Amino acid sequence: MDRIQEYSWTQMAGNWAEKQMDLSCFKRGQTGLPKEHIRRFFEVPELTQGQVHTVTIRYGGREYDARIRIMANGGARLEWTGELQREIRERFPVIHRAFARGNDPGNTPVMIFEKVNHLYFEVSFRKPYHYDYDKSELRDNLQIREEAYTKEGKVIYVQHRRRERNSRIIKQAIERAQDLYGTLACEICTFDFAKRYGKEGEGYIEGHHKRALKSYDEEGEDTHVDDIALVCSNCHRIIHRRMPWKTVEEMKAIVNGLSS
Ligand SMILES: [Zn+2]
Ligand SMILES: [Zn+2]
Repeated sequence: MDRIQEYSWTQMAGNWAEKQMDLSCFKRGQTGLPKEHIRRFFEVPELTQGQVHTVTIRYGGREYDARIRIMANGGARLEWTGELQREIRERFPVIHRAFARGNDPGNTPVMIFEKVNHLYFEVSFRKPYHYDYDKSELRDNLQIREEAYTKEGKVIYVQHRRRERNSRIIKQAIERAQDLYGTLACEICTFDFAKRYGKEGEGYIEGHHKRALKSYDEEGEDTHVDDIALVCSNCHRIIHRRMPWKTVEEMKAIVNGLSS
């Protein structure tokens, strides 16, 4: 699907929406859920005014309660607990301080909601897409903030690749593909190492964990073979070239679009 923009929200895929964080996220631990798409993403049932729908947010390997409430004006709001609020403030102290002092913090982080089911959401954070690398960057607080994001992104990537290198499930996925098809071809571009490099390429392909937004301190014990995409090294590089990482479906669309 295409990205859908609704106020400060972007829906990236059926199970993935992002919120550009604002004052009410930092000050009150809540965010409005715009009517058209985002409320549908959160699958808020037909609640009447004042009714509450409880959901669970998982962040950093821990679970937090949150609720969706229908306001007097008919709007919907997601509110999370003080515990998660403290985690967010500790993670983004510079931005929190700026809001607390009534200053404009500039570019705020993006809160990513990955829907596991309508009652359960995985949350992670990243820097905004359209990050403005202008001179204001040189101001101290902005520098600190950018550095923190960059480290964060790197940590996630390094952990992701480590998981992929050591994964037992990827070996299973490779064996399964060999059993089923007798070959190992990139799921995105059909590149086949054995065809290209002969004996030297036989049995080689890379496994990519599709559920990339999982918190990086989990060691993937709950990963299933179906969570693995078998891809060539080029496609794998491009998947991870920029945040947010491309999905296999997005990559297929790119490859097919270019080749047609
Ligand atoms: Zn490929
Ligand atoms: Zn990967």
